[in-house]
Amino acid sequence: MNILVLNAGSSSLKYQLINIETQTVLAKGICERVGSADSFHKHGIDENEVVIDTPMQDHTEAMKVVLDTLTSGPHAAISSMDEIDAIGHRIVQGGKYFDRSVLIDDDVVSRIDELAELAPLHNKAALMGIDACRTYMPDKPMVAVFDSAYFQTLPPKAFMYGIPYEYYEKYGVRKYGAHGTSHRYIAERAADFIDEPLEDLKIITCHLGNGCSMSAIDHGIAVDTSMGLTPLDGLIMGTRSGAIDPAISTFIMEHEGLTPSQMSDVLNKKSGLLGISGVSNDMRDLRKASEEGNERAQLAYEMYSNSVKKYIGQYIAVMGGVDVIVLTAGVGENCDKMRRMIFAGLQPLGIELDFERNKERGGEREISTDESRVQILVIPTDEEYMIARDTFEIVQETLQEELGERRIA
Ligand code: ADP
Repeated sequence: MNILVLNAGSSSLKYQLINIETQTVLAKGICERVGSADSFHKHGIDENEVVIDTPMQDHTEAMKVVLDTLTSGPHAAISSMDEIDAIGHRIVQGGKYFDRSVLIDDDVVSRIDELAELAPLHNKAALMGIDACRTYMPDKPMVAVFDSAYFQTLPPKAFMYGIPYEYYEKYGVRKYGAHGTSHRYIAERAADFIDEPLEDLKIITCHLGNGCSMSAIDHGIAVDTSMGLTPLDGLIMGTRSGAIDPAISTFIMEHEGLTPSQMSDVLNKKSGLLGISGVSNDMRDLRKASEEGNERAQLAYEMYSNSVKKYIGQYIAVMGGVDVIVLTAGVGENCDKMRRMIFAGLQPLGIELDFERNKERGGEREISTDESRVQILVIPTDEEYMIARDTFEIVQETLQEELGERRIA
């Protein structure tokens, strides 16, 4: 079965065509700056990637570009749309309605729309993607895979905020979390890697990319996560502040004369590593700058690692221990220096990084010492594969149910 995985951003459309039986990526790419005059389309895998300037006024046009590229011309991966069996959509916010992936119907679409208030850019973009698929492939089954669904198992003591209860009742203000598909994937893979059942393990998962989040997975159930109502909460990130004293927002708004949306811009786009260092949100640039003696870059590095370290401590307390810590995404997978700083000083907790293993590169691997009571793993994340797998399973289930109903009839 070939699954088209779509991840629509406000001005982008990322896609992968995955054959689920062979677990191979047949094609992938991204349409960027959709809606602006300089939109372009990157298509291909690794060194075979091509960049094509392509006018795309909206997501419907971007979808057409994707389908045309997949089915015809020099970069075709399949001979016609008939070879796409189903479509999996990544949706950021599923709110309280979705604790798992679901087949998309009109009701699901209206729920995603209703939840757009909590993730305005993302949910609206996903709806445009769904709409575009309905235009070009009206008969294909589509599945929605929610970033927040994995964290619907959080208990109220973890997802509620210490603010008047009425805001939860009126507006649904609570922790929803994000990156759930990635945390679910690396927790499952970690259990497989050490050959223990997920249900027997206490796992801390760390997704450290441009966006960063961590979660506590106790015997296979997510019990806490660092992102909140929105992805702004928790760890210090590339350009997001992470958790700060909430009073800072009103203080700065008053002193700088900022509107709520300008303040939101400061916290989401101008803070984090970029804001602290004044150099960049990219860890590679920061590393270089700090090695050249830039003190603010060094400070940003230290604050970032300290923020991860503190969540490790929190989640050990929440779960009453930890068996495995898993790292993933751009920084988690690649930055040995950051990993060294994160785990420095944690030996008394039974967490011992192996410096040599830590320098190695590659796929899934253990980077703790043989003596470490807690295993530290690096697991490259694969959200697209998870979306394809969920889509496959749900489409299979639906087909079987339909078959059963027909037999009964
Ligand atoms: P996104 O959240 O956008 O998907 P990624 O998972 O691609 O982000 O992570 C991006 C981050 O990973 C950037 O800060 C980048 O600097 C960092 N990164 C990627 N490769 C390396 C590397 N080799 N060393 C250090 N940091 C890296």
